[in-house]
Amino acid sequence: MRLNAAGATDVGRRRRMNEDAFSLSIEGGLVLVADGMGGHSAGHIASELAAREVERTVADAAHAEGRTPTDRLRNAVASANDAILAASKTRDEWSGMGTTLVALLAVGERAALAHVGDSRAYLVRRGRVRQLTDDHSLVGELQRRGELTPDAAREHPHRHVLTRALGVRRGVEADLAELTLAVDDVFVLCTDGLTTHVRDEELAEIVADEHDPQVAAKALVDLANERGGEDNVTVVVVRCEHA
Ligand code: MG
Repeated sequence: MRLNAAGATDVGRRRRMNEDAFSLSIEGGLVLVADGMGGHSAGHIASELAAREVERTVADAAHAEGRTPTDRLRNAVASANDAILAASKTRDEWSGMGTTLVALLAVGERAALAHVGDSRAYLVRRGRVRQLTDDHSLVGELQRRGELTPDAAREHPHRHVLTRALGVRRGVEADLAELTLAVDDVFVLCTDGLTTHVRDEELAEIVADEHDPQVAAKALVDLANERGGEDNVTVVVVRCEHA
């Protein structure tokens, strides 16, 4: 399987800084998105650190025998958590920083997905969209208990409150999933700046209509901004193609 991937990120219309990050390591089959949080510029430090540390750890384990994509991502997330936590203790203004993370690692037709926080991964397969991640957020928990509809969640005043984040405490647990890729699958990884403004069906329609991942990612970012751009917005679009 060959991955055709591209990403786009934008500060949005309300924030002064972009604390999101994304990374594409196409050769290694790794793509990820992170949404940093913390005062000053700490959120930006945390999301960048997560991206670099996951890239490094995944690449280091590329030739380790018997390591599945899931093993490699699990280790990478643990390592990124340690790195951010350690860094947060080196400067007062970095204290308490953290980040979300959603990462997809593909090896041949097998893939692993890891996530912490409320950044999401979607799979669009034959025109149908499926959210692959459960938000680790207050409103996400309420939705899973049936106490909140997706529309109400999108407008909830506490929709940004996370129940899990990377770099905040020791031994964070990532949700891990294994997938088998099919040709023409499209994955969308994104931060909450997108999903606050854009519905799942709209997202599916855009990636189904636009085959160039770069154009599709930009179109999604633009749509979030047209609708208010209340947060930083980051989108990575991955198309699975014949090798
Ligand atoms: Mg955000």
